[in-house]
Amino acid sequence: MSHDPKAFRSAQGEGRWEGVDILTYKADDGAPFKDVTRQVLFDSPALGCELRYFEVAPGGHSTLERHEHVHAVMILRGQGQCMVGGDVRDVRERDLISIPPLTWHQFRASATEPLGFLCMVNRERDRPQLPTGAELDAMRRLPGVARFLDGG
Ligand code: MN
Repeated sequence: MSHDPKAFRSAQGEGRWEGVDILTYKADDGAPFKDVTRQVLFDSPALGCELRYFEVAPGGHSTLERHEHVHAVMILRGQGQCMVGGDVRDVRERDLISIPPLTWHQFRASATEPLGFLCMVNRERDRPQLPTGAELDAMRRLPGVARFLDGG
């Protein structure tokens, strides 16, 4: 992937860093998402993990997905909501979110503010799974989930 970074890289305003490219989120598959960018901040093979920064534009959302690998997330900018399993929560700067294995999850920015978050993940990991129609129907029957999935 990327080369070893310089030892020091300056922050350049909100959600930007020296020498870090803004990448297309999910460039390699057809998963549904809206207005999300991805930046890889750390991905040295020596770490065994990667630290990425995702930013969801106002009104946007990440892919609803699940996988065997886990995520460790810290909200860095703005506010919105996240769903972990059937649990929908408001999230804001500095909140921490753990996504367990094989647990449906999605992040949504508020209508007026972006939602930026750090996400730590294993370097070697399985591909995300998307819900079937039946799985989506089951999720939507949980309190608050249909409203969340419909964008608030
Ligand atoms: Mn994920």
